[in-house]
Amino acid sequence: MDHVFFPAFSRVAISGGTHGNELSGVHIVREMQKHNVNQMGSLSVCPILSNPRSIEVCRRYIDTDLNRCFTDALLSTPLTDSSSCELRRAHELNALLGPKGSDRAMDLVCDLHNTTSNMGLCFIIDFLDWILLHMVKYVQIKMPTAPIRVINTNVASKSLSYSVDSVAKHGFAIEVGPQPHGVLRADIYNMMKEAVDHTLDWLNKFNAGTTFEGDKVEVFVWEKSVDYPRDPETSQLTAVIHPKLQDNDFKLLQHGNPIFKTFTGETVNYEGEDLYPFFINECAYYEKRIAFHLAKKETIAFPPISVKKE
Ligand SMILES: [Zn+2]
Repeated sequence: MDHVFFPAFSRVAISGGTHGNELSGVHIVREMQKHNVNQMGSLSVCPILSNPRSIEVCRRYIDTDLNRCFTDALLSTPLTDSSSCELRRAHELNALLGPKGSDRAMDLVCDLHNTTSNMGLCFIIDFLDWILLHMVKYVQIKMPTAPIRVINTNVASKSLSYSVDSVAKHGFAIEVGPQPHGVLRADIYNMMKEAVDHTLDWLNKFNAGTTFEGDKVEVFVWEKSVDYPRDPETSQLTAVIHPKLQDNDFKLLQHGNPIFKTFTGETVNYEGEDLYPFFINECAYYEKRIAFHLAKKETIAFPPISVKKE
């Protein structure tokens, strides 16, 4: 593949507390703020707490999920007295970190999340972006024992991307679990902190003129979501995740494998093509009617890159 040149990175934001009860990111950002981290090598760094009101009460959100508020449609919706707390904050964040799609937007936003699912550390991207794939490869090499994967949410267009990191020129989430919401675990905190530090190192190496050779990486591409079995009249759950599926994120799910155990003791088996489950039994997804997502696994080759000289 042909060598690709990208402009240097100058402004980078590390955001935590987009979901106020996902505490690793909240505390990583607070530590950076406490120690006045605003310059790292060639980078101007902005550590920011995305949803302070939800952090204060340790809840995912106050009115609505902030990390679904950054589509072009919602960012251009005029605010009124009845606008949700999160839509107001999304407009503020878009002004601070964006505006989305403009030259003034942050070069990179890294948004920090936790999951109750057994997913290890995931880089979540909305599109294939050579910069982000290089960064993931670098972090994988630097953290050889950590389970580090890439999820491509496969959103149809940038204007439909709904996450806070979509306001930047290059944006991604780091999602680490399992960790209960409202709880801190040292292993999860350290894994996230280390990945953030390596990401910032990579950016400084890139800015300094390092050539990163082409390579390939496995990417899990979102395919579909599966809801829990429900009572057709009341919509109440009639089953839980099957013990043989629980904690088996990213292990191939094959036709006939058990996925749910009903409250009356029956097993529900998976029907469909072989795919990779993730976000299995994520606490925050009950309200979204998602028991788990399914992905295809692809191997993506990416080209050598380096900084474009002025
Ligand atoms: Zn989250």
